[in-house]
Amino acid sequence: MNMMDITYSRQNIQIVAEQLAAIVADYRVLTFEGDLGAGKTTLISALCRVWGVIDPVSSPTYSLINKYEAKSLPVGNWIYHLDLYRLKSAAEGIDAGMEDILYSGEFCLVEWPSKALEIIPGRRLELSLRVCGHDTRHLTVISREK
Ligand code: ADP
Ligand code: MG
Repeated sequence: MNMMDITYSRQNIQIVAEQLAAIVADYRVLTFEGDLGAGKTTLISALCRVWGVIDPVSSPTYSLINKYEAKSLPVGNWIYHLDLYRLKSAAEGIDAGMEDILYSGEFCLVEWPSKALEIIPGRRLELSLRVCGHDTRHLTVISREK
């Protein structure tokens, strides 16, 4: 089901992040698709701010997994930020402990899910980002059950 379809700039990204937080419901895994520079990390950072993360948010390109303490989550106190960009196989992700995290019931924000779709839970919100102009991005959100 299509949950959201919106074009935004850096000026109104925080409003988009608030709308996003409001539709998350009982989903725990949010995947972020889009080319390099599409704005995945920037949107994740805005969403983390809505959820009360104080620590800086940046792509875990090398560490693969970041963990942030979040004061205003609907459930729990932790957000996991995963970046699958550098994975060469799903097995590598499993070795890094990603599968355990993705099925833990904690909030997981995942960049580059396409690099290891085998380990991504079927039930998730699938966010796709596209560059529109110098300062604008298009976001679609689809709920996936399988
Ligand atoms: P990704 O994680 O998809 O590679 P980033 O979020 O790291 O992308 O980078 C997006 C870049 O585009 C940043 O330099 C950011 O400042 C810029 N940008 C311009 N407009 C927007 C926008 N509306 N939303 C997000 N990023 C934007
Ligand atoms: Mg990124």
